[in-house]
Formats: sequence, structure tokens, C-alpha cells
Amino acid sequence: MSNQIILPRIMQVGEGASNEVPNVLASLGCKRPLIITDNMMVELGYAARIQECLSRHQIASDVFADTVPEPTVSSIQAGVDRVRDGDYDSIIALGGGSPIDSAKAIAILGKHGGTMRDYKFPRMVIEAGLPIVAVPTTAGTGSEVTRVTIITDETTDEKMLCMGIGFMPVAALVDYNLTLSLPSRITADTGIDALTHAIEAYVSKKANLYSDSQALSAMRLLAPNLRRAYHDGADKEAREAMMLGSTLAGVAFSNASVALVHGMSRPIGAAFHVPHGLSNAMLLPSVTQYSLPAAPKRYADCARAMGVADVQDSVEVANDKLLKELHALNDELQVPTPARFGIDRQTFFDLMPTMAEQALASGSPNNNPRVPSIDD
Ligand code: NAD
Repeated sequence: MSNQIILPRIMQVGEGASNEVPNVLASLGCKRPLIITDNMMVELGYAARIQECLSRHQIASDVFADTVPEPTVSSIQAGVDRVRDGDYDSIIALGGGSPIDSAKAIAILGKHGGTMRDYKFPRMVIEAGLPIVAVPTTAGTGSEVTRVTIITDETTDEKMLCMGIGFMPVAALVDYNLTLSLPSRITADTGIDALTHAIEAYVSKKANLYSDSQALSAMRLLAPNLRRAYHDGADKEAREAMMLGSTLAGVAFSNASVALVHGMSRPIGAAFHVPHGLSNAMLLPSVTQYSLPAAPKRYADCARAMGVADVQDSVEVANDKLLKELHALNDELQVPTPARFGIDRQTFFDLMPTMAEQALASGSPNNNPRVPSIDD
């Protein structure tokens, strides 16, 4: 059996990779980019730095900075209008998963029209949008290398999963220098998101030899460096490992799948406005405990790759160590419980049937080693 692997055409990885934007655009034959980003990237001077870099190569660019965290259908409309009214031949997506996902949606809607709901899973989007050069500034989503975008329909509080080769950036410039400014809370949430991608890709029913190798490498990089980056944001070695680990985890899940944590995390995120990485972090230990009996050997491999179990440990011991580690990680990284985050218990239970339906409809739980029923 063979597996189709989908990747960006160019990946530039390592310190200073983001300075290669002009060369990458030149090799793609693009001359007129729109930078899609958020206001934080403007404040930090990252957008200006990219523009200066481009102007040194006589490439004129504009900036659209009105993307929002956890993008919504209405938040991307101004970007779609901007692309339609301009003469842009490419998009530079600069920021965390939110600006990159916004750029993916804008690139498709700007060129092919329609509404975001028209592109929702299970439709596989094969149309090419404007080419995207993605420059991530969080070590979390891996969106720079995935054929996925997630846009919330705010009228129904639904995080819509949209998939297909049409959403894959043509280039990913993976530069850990841009993550040095991340505050510890965002470092933790996005880092657990990346770790979740790697674990879910590895235990997924769609896992394959290629995705396994990327997922295990990602776990080896992420697990020992997440605490380091959280406690000392200036630790360049840890930041570099986190950035590469996040990209590899993105490659892994985009070519396998995510599973139950992500399936449940999206409705909770949409209903209670919990940032994506944080809702994953809240769920990872208990969903792992639920899923573990269906794939004990796979979870034991995860424990070993993360460095929390030894090769000589039995599967049971390794599984036990993995669960302990996931709880300990949440404690050390001060991941709040849903109640501490401010989610009202009664409202949560009232919304549970709808959230469960949305989770199952997204398709991700079907890839979980243990497939839940709506009652589960
Ligand atoms: P984000 O992009 O929403 O950013 C979170 C906050 O961090 C923002 O305020 C942002 O301005 C700030 N920030 C980003 N980089 C910074 C830096 N270097 N220094 C200081 N501040 C910085 O967070 P995220 O977790 O990267 O992205 C979440 C979004 O990605 C969600 O919408 C989620 O659904 C989506 N997602 C997409 C995929 C995919 O494959 N497409 C995968 C997972 C998650």
C-alpha cells in the first residue's frame, strides 16, 4: 500500500529563514505580494522587517493586518475584498496559526469566490488559490505545512474544518528567531498543540510509515524542550527545537490526521472562546486515558520518543508514565481546568449534546484509536 504525501514546494528551515522571502518569491516567479498578518506582528516590527527585506530586492508589498485570533467568517471578508481589489500575485502569511489560516481562506475565496461553508470538510479543496509563502511565528499549529484551515462560523459557533491540497502553502519559511518574543502562556499553549499533533498523528488510524517518522521526530524535539522554552523564552536551543518540532508535527498530521482531542477541542473552543492550543491541552490527558486501551503499543512508543519511558519498560509501565507526564506537563505549564478558565459548568453541560454532534461530524474522532459514540 502506498500513501500520498503532500508538502509545500519549498521549505526554508533555520535561523534567518524569514530573510529569504525575496529569494523564495523569485524562485516562484512572484513579484507582487500582499502580507497577511495581525497587529501584533506589526507592533513587533516583523511585518516591517519583511517589507524592508522585499524592498531591498525592489519588490513592492502591502500589509493587511486585520486578521483576528481564531479567525471567523466575517473576519476574513475584508481580506478577501482586499485581494480582489488589488493586483497581488502572491500572499505572505506572517504570524501564528490564525493569520496563516486566514491567509489560506482569503487566498481561495479571493480567487474562486463562494463562502467558507462551501469549502467545508468533507469537500476536498483542489482548486489553487493565490500562492502562499507561510512564515510562522508560533511553534504550534504547523499550519505552514498543512492542507488545512479552520474558520469559525460565528453565527453557529462552529469551527469549520476545511481541507485539501488547495490550502497547502507553496513555501514555508521556518525561522525560530520569530518565536523568541512569544510570552510564556502562548509558548505553553501552542507547544502543547504541537505535541498533540505529533501524538494524534502517531496513534491515528490514518498513520503511515512516513507520518510516523515525522511524528516521532517531532515528539523527540518537542517533549524535552517545551518546559525549557516556557521557563526561559530566550533559550534559543529550545526555541529552535520547538519550531522544527512543530513543523514536523504539522507534516505528520497533515499526512495522517488528528483525532479525538482535536475533534472535541474545536467545539469547546468555538463555544467558550478557548484558544486552540489551550483547549487541546485541557483535553490531552483525559482523552489519552480514554483512547489508550485501543492502542497501548503506539502510546508506549510515544512515551519512549518523549523520553519519559525507557526501552526496557513494559507497554503498561510506559503507558502509565505517559499519562503521568501529560498531567505533570499541564501542572507545570499552568494549564487551567475549564472551570478555572471561567467556563460555567451548567452552560457546558447544556451545550454538550451540540458539541458532541459537532465533534463527531468533523470526522477527526473517526481516526482515533478508540472511536467514541455520541454518549461517550
Ligand atoms: P494565534 O495565531 O491565534 O496567536 C495567538 C496570539 O499570539 C496572538 O495574539 C498573536 O498575535 C500572538 N503571537 C503570535 N506570534 C507571536 C510572537 N512571535 N510573539 C508574540 N506574540 C505572538 O495562535 P496559534 O495557536 O498559532 O494559532 C491558532 C489558530 O490556528 C486557531 O484558529 C486554530 O484553529 C488554528 N490551527 C490551524 C491548524 C492548521 O493546520 N491549519 C492546526 C492547528 C490549529
